Amino acid sequence: MEHVTVDELDTFPHPLDATDGARALADALGTTDVAMNHYTLAPGEAPDGGYHTHLDQEEIFYVLEGTVTFDTDEGSQEVAAGEVVRFAPGDYHHGENDSDEQAIVLAIGAPGRRHDWDQLRVPVPCPNCEDVDAMGVDIAAGDQGGLRCPECDETMSV
Ligand SMILES: [Zn+2]
Repeated sequence: MEHVTVDELDTFPHPLDATDGARALADALGTTDVAMNHYTLAPGEAPDGGYHTHLDQEEIFYVLEGTVTFDTDEGSQEVAAGEVVRFAPGDYHHGENDSDEQAIVLAIGAPGRRHDWDQLRVPVPCPNCEDVDAMGVDIAAGDQGGLRCPECDETMSV
C-alpha cells in the first residue's frame, strides 16, 4: 500500500506553465495504469495548457473546491465543488478557474500512468495536409507552443 498526504507533496512545474499548483499523485503513489494529478488553481490558472484532446486517454475531473469552467465542443460548462466531468478520448476540452476564488480539482486519466505526448491533439488544421484537422504538440518547443502535424511532420508555432 502507498499512502500520501496531498498537502505534503511538492508541486511540479507544469510543462505548459498553466499553474503553479500541480501535484503528481500518480508519481507519489507509484501508479502503473492510471494518471492522477491534483491541481490547486489560483484565479486564472488552468490544469492544462489549452484546448486539446488525448487520443489515448479518457480524463475525469473531480472538483473538490470552488468552480472550474470547461470549454468543450458542446460549449462552456461550469463544474462546481462536488461535481465530476469525464471526457472520452478524442473529446476536446480546456479547464480554467474563471472565478475569483481558489479552485481545487483532481484529474484522473486512464489507461496508463501518463498520456503519450504523441497522442495529444489541438484543433488546428495542418497547412499542408487537406485531411488533417488537428495538429500534435511539439513538447520540445516548450513555451514556444510548437505544433507538429502527425502526418507530414510540418511544424508551426502558435
Ligand atoms: Zn500535415
